Amino acid sequence: MAKKQPFEKASKAAGGWGALKSVGRQLVGSGKPVAGAKTMLKANQPDGFDCPGCAWGDPEHGSSFEFCENGVKAVAWEATRARVTPDFFAKHSVQELRCWSDHDLEHQGRLTHPMRYDADSDRYVAVGWEDAFAGIADRLNAIEDPGQAEFYTSGRASNEAAFLYQTFVRLYGTNNFPDCSNMCHEASGVALTESIGIGKGTVQLEDFEKADTIFVVGQNPGTNHPRMLADLRKATERGARVVVFNTLKEKGLQRFADPQNKLEMIRGGSKATSTDYFRPRLGGDMAIFRGMAKVVFAAEDAAQAAGDAPVLDHAFIAEHSQGFEDYRAVVEATDWAQIEDQSGLSRTQIEEAAGFYLEADSVVATWAMGITQHRHSVPMIREIVNFMLLRGNIGRPGAGLCPVRGHSNVQGDRTVGINEKAPKPLIDAMEKELGVPMPREPGHNVLQAIGAMLSGEARAFIALGGNFARATPDSQLIDQAMRNLDLTVNIATKLNHSHLMPGAHSYILPCLGRTEIDRNSKGVRQIVTVEDSMSMVHGSGGINLPASKELKSEVQIIAGIAKATVGDAVVDWDALGDDNDKIRELIERVLPAFENYNEAVRKPRGFHLFNSAAVRQWNTPTGRANFSVADLPKETEWQQAKGDDQTYILQTFRSHDQYNTTVYGMDDRYRGVYGERNVVFMHRDDIALIGAEAGDRVDVLGCFEDGVDRTAADFRLVPYDIPRGCVAGYYPELNVLVPHQHYGDKSFTPSSKSVRVNFRLRAK
Ligand code: SF4
Repeated sequence: MAKKQPFEKASKAAGGWGALKSVGRQLVGSGKPVAGAKTMLKANQPDGFDCPGCAWGDPEHGSSFEFCENGVKAVAWEATRARVTPDFFAKHSVQELRCWSDHDLEHQGRLTHPMRYDADSDRYVAVGWEDAFAGIADRLNAIEDPGQAEFYTSGRASNEAAFLYQTFVRLYGTNNFPDCSNMCHEASGVALTESIGIGKGTVQLEDFEKADTIFVVGQNPGTNHPRMLADLRKATERGARVVVFNTLKEKGLQRFADPQNKLEMIRGGSKATSTDYFRPRLGGDMAIFRGMAKVVFAAEDAAQAAGDAPVLDHAFIAEHSQGFEDYRAVVEATDWAQIEDQSGLSRTQIEEAAGFYLEADSVVATWAMGITQHRHSVPMIREIVNFMLLRGNIGRPGAGLCPVRGHSNVQGDRTVGINEKAPKPLIDAMEKELGVPMPREPGHNVLQAIGAMLSGEARAFIALGGNFARATPDSQLIDQAMRNLDLTVNIATKLNHSHLMPGAHSYILPCLGRTEIDRNSKGVRQIVTVEDSMSMVHGSGGINLPASKELKSEVQIIAGIAKATVGDAVVDWDALGDDNDKIRELIERVLPAFENYNEAVRKPRGFHLFNSAAVRQWNTPTGRANFSVADLPKETEWQQAKGDDQTYILQTFRSHDQYNTTVYGMDDRYRGVYGERNVVFMHRDDIALIGAEAGDRVDVLGCFEDGVDRTAADFRLVPYDIPRGCVAGYYPELNVLVPHQHYGDKSFTPSSKSVRVNFRLRAK
């Protein structure tokens, strides 16, 4: 058992000295503490670079320290002194490296040279860029049907890289765009498009300063969007209600000690980040919002009966919405017993929470994976929207919806065309611009790409960043499927597990990081752009020298592969690959919302991309905001397992020392876990119920009846304050238990927050 960090245990607040200590450790660990600290001063600054971490917004008038502990981890991890050179690959076979942990692989440092897989020696060997491009083109062009190639995008890719990528892939002839958002906020995109006509949140950062009540649902900002804590804290300080619905009592959603507040740090103080905290069962949030809607309708009836002012915003409902009466009927038809059993909250608790909605003039609702990774996530998110429509809490100051994105540009990638559904307006505009037909057949999302890889239909997999093999469900099946491919290509900054699942032909192409200077052939420093969760598009320019002279930008790599594969008769890849301004001019012609793109993005903090719903324009088939009328799920996974002492519902999540599949360290100090990752958080009474004791080691067994043995071996049971019947643990280690066939209706998002599992005690 690793040594406990004494003072950490004591702190009841997120941030504080623990954050500073962790920051220090990360900067020292990068081998360049002073340079690293200097680099951080340019993070999220108008003349600096965008933090490659999450997609929380930047305040208009930010401080010179506009970063958080996890932003430092992301930057220090990228700006490390450590290098993975051709010599490294000469020393280690792919088979050997496959046994290394996710942490140890990336900890080796930055990739320095393009590498080609040599199957005979089972090693990667150095290759020249042009040879790599030619080799990749040969394999891609050897595939009869372009639909047999999968083109994956990680949310770290800039708008310019993502737009060029979609242009290349569509010219190659497919819409196969498996995208990391398929595994995170896809349900938000689908639900919001159906409800309000745009697949994005409607609020801006300023709305958090005006809201009377903020609902934070299925989200852990302390680890995943740490700067949000400052906004929540400011809200509670000015008397707003911050109402949390979360299965776990997350430290960041209770108190935050601001490391930038010297007095507070000296006194060991902190402030609340929430005012009310409710603990639903996994998958129970839709029932909560359904229950709160019942309370709102009862309050409306009471007001009418008393001749008081109406509770509902009738003017908004009449002018802007569709389906109100049907929605009211389905709410009235939902009984409290089902609501209480499914949500895990009592009627009294739900009435209390609804009261915080009724007392507020303006309300913001935010959410993340705790909502989006269930089978019924789309109707669940639509239920949140329904609830917000009742009092017109969309499209006015201090009110609106905020799915908080996990990756710094995952929203931007979708905006500029990374979309397997091949939206007609985009394809029409691309055809008009390029003068050639584009594929209109919808392509593959992540799960469909997995299906094609498992069936052998897919022959090639190209990844613009990310760690597909570890981010996806059914890890053992994916590993094999990737190795059955003819071609795998990974554009990356650091070595990861997916690179060790080489197809017959495989390349690792090292790219510049977000913090590194990108100069074109004329020596002009290039900037890229990203879009945050608040639809703000801003510029990002690296400030550090590249980790290797061999590195190319994502844009240059895509241009190189594209030119070699589809030729440059239609697109001048050399010109675009050498000048991001030219790519932005092309984006502006194809996507009119990016008006004066090159000028606008050079303004401090960039510009707000037009959001129709934020101004109450509803781009829906009805031309209105649509109430949905879905029934609650007959039974959630938790309800199906109820009464079975051996079956539990697992949610996978991140530790505090992790960002997506990148593992910076082995601690999770906010949850009291140090030096290990093979842990399962479980209620003390449930541990006893399976005949175990706290600290016992178990194998976690998947319960999906498809004949596939899904086992996560040798995990330690950690007693934790979590609702009975629910358990939790980290991905990617537990992704082996998530069946790829277990996904959200309409969203195709793996249901990683509701996986049925059993336990097998291991010998002591
Ligand atoms: S909140 Fe997100 S974007 Fe901001 S510094 Fe932290 S990790 Fe980076």
